[in-house]
Amino acid sequence: MSEYGKEVNAAITAFEKRVGSTRAAYAEELPLACETAHQPLFLPTPGYYLKALLCEKLASEKKGQGVYGLIDNDLSLFASLRQTHLPALNKNGSTAIGFKISSTDEKKAFNFIPKPSKEEWENALEKISDSYEKDKTRELTEILWNAYNRGCNLAEVNAFSTARICRELLQTKTLFFLYSDLQETGAFGAACEKLADRNEEVVREYNSAISTTNSTMKRLSENETLFWCQCECGAKATIWKQKEGFVAACASCGKKAEFYDVKREAKKISPKAVARSLILPQVLGTTAYVSGAGAFSEDEGAYGVVAFKLAKALGWPMPETFVWRNKDYYSSRTRSAAFYAAKKLFPNISPKPLEATAFLATEVEKLAKKVEKYRTTLAEAKASQKRDEKTIQELKASIQAEQNKLTAATTAFELLKKNYSVVDLCSSIGWSKAKDDWTAALRKAPTVNREYFTEYSTQTLH
Ligand SMILES: [Zn+2]
Repeated sequence: MSEYGKEVNAAITAFEKRVGSTRAAYAEELPLACETAHQPLFLPTPGYYLKALLCEKLASEKKGQGVYGLIDNDLSLFASLRQTHLPALNKNGSTAIGFKISSTDEKKAFNFIPKPSKEEWENALEKISDSYEKDKTRELTEILWNAYNRGCNLAEVNAFSTARICRELLQTKTLFFLYSDLQETGAFGAACEKLADRNEEVVREYNSAISTTNSTMKRLSENETLFWCQCECGAKATIWKQKEGFVAACASCGKKAEFYDVKREAKKISPKAVARSLILPQVLGTTAYVSGAGAFSEDEGAYGVVAFKLAKALGWPMPETFVWRNKDYYSSRTRSAAFYAAKKLFPNISPKPLEATAFLATEVEKLAKKVEKYRTTLAEAKASQKRDEKTIQELKASIQAEQNKLTAATTAFELLKKNYSVVDLCSSIGWSKAKDDWTAALRKAPTVNREYFTEYSTQTLH
């Protein structure tokens, strides 16, 4: 257990009480061994829940427990905090279900966003349950209503439903806590102070890590720190180191606050993404971490790589890190409709989702090339000195026919390939079957040692 065992226990216990669980506090059980983290999202894709499954497996291998930190005090910029996507036979291949927040609220921490009105919540839940057989969504709907009634803000509603889905529908033992609760105990203070003491070095190494990774992350300015200060207006203020002490400047309301002691202000201070990776293992006392693949992808900023490079430069220990990349193949009501639309075009298409997706990928490519080739021929025919109107009309008709096929094949392909809300998969095949399939796939998964993490890679056929 870390020296913050008491604070961590308080945050976990506070969460358990509010989520309505009768589970005993973790201190009486096994030590925390593996950590994972995410903003509390509204019914996102399965990967968000798979973090809990992998976390539990790794923790049990280390004879300890898994813990899922829900970053409820992050900024409210992502649509996935308040919107989920189900498949639909339209040109986007999906329909969004969720809630709008004002542009003023987007600048606030997520735990400052009010929950939607009862009517809005009811409408969203009805749209979900109307998309499936009633008894397939009954348990989920009960969990969502319970979370709605208990949560004081949208972040809590999502966090409570996440915990109960993981516990009751996916049968995981993973513990949960809210970052705002842990921050409230002051547990981040000492580690934040350690980084703040070396801020000049931190800025230099952080920027150097960014420049060597093609990361799209913003460089730190001179004296900028890796922490936020929670402003009273709800927004998060950047903290700057001064000659003596610090100043937090809120870009939203313009308020400035000066302070001298990071530890004393710890209840207001939270680490940004890179600092989170360095600080949380120390606070939780964990030696393994389940990360999302995006943290190491340059398209998404590669903040995981920046964290590892910064830690190395500072001589700061990092946990053993794991990523589970999974692709689900399953049949749902809308996916079947997409499949049968494709079967009209390609009667020989395999009914197996994996084979059908691969087949459509090839067909889409072939059709696109065909259309392109017709277009070139048409352009040549138009430019020819012996311009033949009949040939031109025939070519135009052929282009139209192939283009129609291409559009239909692309729609079906996108629908079979895309990741949707966990609701689509689990309301179609059942939560316990989904979990069994994932567990079986993970058990057989080959592991690949990447530069910064160990990767489990699975294709789950449900
Ligand atoms: Zn402010």
